[in-house]
This record gives sequence, structure tokens and C-alpha cells, in this order.
Amino acid sequence: MAIVYRAKGNIYLNLTNRCSSDCCFCVAGFSSGIYGYGLRLESEPEVDEVLHDLEAEFLEGPAAEVVFCGFGEPTMRLDAILKITEWLKLRRIPSRLDTNGHGSLINPGRDVPGELARAGLDRASVSLVAHNSEVYNQLSRPVFSKAFRAVLQFAAGCIKEGIKVRLTVVDLPEVDIEACRSLAKKMGADFYVRPLISAGSEETED
Ligand code: SF4
Repeated sequence: MAIVYRAKGNIYLNLTNRCSSDCCFCVAGFSSGIYGYGLRLESEPEVDEVLHDLEAEFLEGPAAEVVFCGFGEPTMRLDAILKITEWLKLRRIPSRLDTNGHGSLINPGRDVPGELARAGLDRASVSLVAHNSEVYNQLSRPVFSKAFRAVLQFAAGCIKEGIKVRLTVVDLPEVDIEACRSLAKKMGADFYVRPLISAGSEETED
């Protein structure tokens, strides 16, 4: 079971297995890990434990960036993200949050983009999933109603706070890729189409 793992020149952090979506394309639906690491947690790690493992990992060599990712939605542990991001910022280590964009729904009453920016988060990769709420709900099966609108607001909020944002979609027939690309462009975000990872396929998530 890995809390800190390395792939593609980055270090990834697996803080939680909880999620507010149940995406039809989620790797956790058919695999217990990725890149050869087991990502099913027995319990969620404390911040001190993560920082200890992170320090040990950096002794093995540098990384292009540290990514909050893993098998779950990282903003389920917003306070842990903030503390770890501050730790990274102090050391001038670039950070990225891979998120389903539900951060403000999961943490109501908080200015999540603002808090992330003040902690020093550099980049956010936000899973747009689809071009409209109907297809979004069909593919992502979120626990929240109006999640699609919240994802767009979260991404726009991050951009406003100076966090560099990338919107991502998975290459599925239901998704209008060009409409998603144009949404990203209008917002001032980068755009990335992920190949579908299925059981037995190459692991290509970044
Ligand atoms: S948001 Fe991510 S972790 Fe959550 S179900 Fe979807 S793909 Fe899986």
C-alpha cells in the first residue's frame, strides 16, 4: 500500500480512497493500484507520515513536481493538502492537484481555490469529464447535484487565484471532445484528453 509513489518523473501522493464521484472510467473500479503500486489504503495517512515518506523519497532523487492524486479525491483531505503544499512551497518544489473539481462542494463555506493559492499550489488538473451536465452525470455519477457547474466554477476560481489549470477528459464516445476543448479555451485553461485506461491496457495516466 503506497502513500508516496513515483512515476513519469513525478512524485504522487495517495491521501485518501474516498471520492464524491463514481466514474465509469475509474481505475480503482477494476484495479488495486497503478504503476505497480498498491493504492488501496488501510487508513488515511497523517500529514507527518506523508511528509516523512516524502522526505525519504526525495533522498532517492529529485522530481519534476509533487502531485496530489492517488485512488480517491484529494480535496476530501483539504487541510492535509494545504499543509503539504506549504511544506513544498517552502522548499520551492512545484505542486499539482489532480481533482474532480468538487472541492468547494466537499468543503462548503470555504474558499477552496483561494486557500490552495495561498498555500502555494502551482497547478490544478481538473477532470471536466464531459461537455454538459447530462453526460457528466452519466459518466461521473457524482454524489452532488449540480456538480458539473461546480467543477466549472472551481476551475475558474483557481485560474482567478493564479493557479495554472488544465481541464481533462477521458476519450469516450459520449464525450464531445471539441466542445470540451472550446470550454477550456474560453476559460483560459489548458486541455488534455486522457486515453481510457481499462483492465489490461497500458498505464498512461500522467
Ligand atoms: S473522480 Fe477520480 S477517483 Fe473519483 S471515481 Fe472519478 S476517476 Fe475515480
